[in-house]
Amino acid sequence: MNSPADPRAHERIAVIGAGLIGSAIAWRLTHEGHKVLLIDRAEPAHYGASFGNAGHVATEQREPLPSLGLLLTFWRQLAVCGGPVDIPLHRLLSLAPWMARFAAAALHQRRNTPALAALVRPAADALERALREIGHPELLVRHGHYKFWWGAGSAARAARAAGAAAEFEVRTEPAPAQLTQAIEARAPGRVSGLWFPDSAHVIDPQSVAAALVTAAVQAGARFEQCEVREIRGVGERLLVDSGDVQHRVRAVVVCAGVQAAPLLRPFGLRAPLTAERGYHLEFAGARALTDAPVVYAEHNLIVTPMQGRLRATSYLEFNRHGAPPDARKLQRLRSTLERLGYRSETHHAGWVGSRPTLPDYLPGIGRAPHAPLYYAIGHQHLGLTLSAPTAEVMAALIAGRDPPVATAPFDLGRFGRAAPLTGAPS
Ligand SMILES: Cc1cc2nc3c(=O)[nH]c(=O)nc-3n(C[C@H](O)[C@H](O)[C@H](O)COP(=O)(O)OP(=O)(O)OC[C@H]3O[C@@H](n4cnc5c(N)ncnc54)[C@H](O)[C@@H]3O)c2cc1C
Repeated sequence: MNSPADPRAHERIAVIGAGLIGSAIAWRLTHEGHKVLLIDRAEPAHYGASFGNAGHVATEQREPLPSLGLLLTFWRQLAVCGGPVDIPLHRLLSLAPWMARFAAAALHQRRNTPALAALVRPAADALERALREIGHPELLVRHGHYKFWWGAGSAARAARAAGAAAEFEVRTEPAPAQLTQAIEARAPGRVSGLWFPDSAHVIDPQSVAAALVTAAVQAGARFEQCEVREIRGVGERLLVDSGDVQHRVRAVVVCAGVQAAPLLRPFGLRAPLTAERGYHLEFAGARALTDAPVVYAEHNLIVTPMQGRLRATSYLEFNRHGAPPDARKLQRLRSTLERLGYRSETHHAGWVGSRPTLPDYLPGIGRAPHAPLYYAIGHQHLGLTLSAPTAEVMAALIAGRDPPVATAPFDLGRFGRAAPLTGAPS
């Protein structure tokens, strides 16, 4: 059952999914002395959302998205009105239950905010700690980020944003005049900006995951490339089945991004994840305006300086995971970037990836009721940001320690129970 090369596999904890969440958890568990088997169908952070994100450690994003205000005004954000949100008509029916939950979550935004904020607030420190432990502090840049608004009302909008940030104890300062002028010179108009000094960015999200996995493997973890078809209970242990290979392990942590739900369902766990797809374009060799991400508020995009290139990301497209990219969106993004002064000698075809999003925009972090089956999923727009804090919480849950933040709000039980399938431990 276990491969003969790994006779102690039954002592291992299997982590399924080597995106940023699984990689951070694999490192943290290994660092704490656990034997870890990390499994992904591809190289770390190659297949999922972790590959192509904006690299922004968004410690300022402390409120879950669903709000009463958004319910009333979301139509203005729709692609048909020039906004970043696209809900394809053919998806409306299948998305209806998710949207109903989204609307219900809007009523609980005040209750849910402290739970998310507790996880987000220490995120840059936690990621810096993890990257120092593995000897790669250079992957994180702690210069904050900038946000700019255009037009006659831009100063008022920036002031309102600073006030809203202060309510959540997020520090802001006016953007430096030199940078504001540089932005205005490239895309004329009246511009006002803010600096968020306590956020951060990484110079390549995939390198972060790869470095965490390499460190874990050097410390004794195993990485195996295969697709997990099923997890089932065998006595006190769990069996991770990929068809060709089965691993009997003492616990499993499911970090399978937008594809986690079928692996959790046999354990009675309901994970109403949707793919909230985002796109990126890259500009090889382009010089950054500043060594920090720049958010263009009205253009709904963020440009992040990354190793040897700039990466621009945008859109919230509620399409099926795996659907072909929408070439019109990439074209629109390219044109907007050109208007903002970003040009490239080389052509980048673009990338699309699925943010794994639960309808209340809280992650799912916890344990199945009757099995050593843990989960860390649904990190929506914040999976890079929350990678290290989630790993610290997961390590505490597995060790039976009090986690650094309360995990009850992240328990998947909030979505009710799925009917267990056969093979799950009772
Ligand atoms: C355009 C865009 C911009 C973003 N910008 C930011 C940002 O600036 N800051 C931020 O914090 N977050 C950002 N995010 C969100 C962030 O990227 C995600 O929340 C995060 O990557 C989710 O990580 P994950 O490990 O949960 O999932 P993924 O990265 O999707 O990884 C899941 C892994 O599980 C594997 N897997 C799934 N099922 C199986 C199976 N059955 N067997 C084997 N392997 C399996 C997949 O191959 C994959 O590698 C952005 C996302 C997008 C799309």
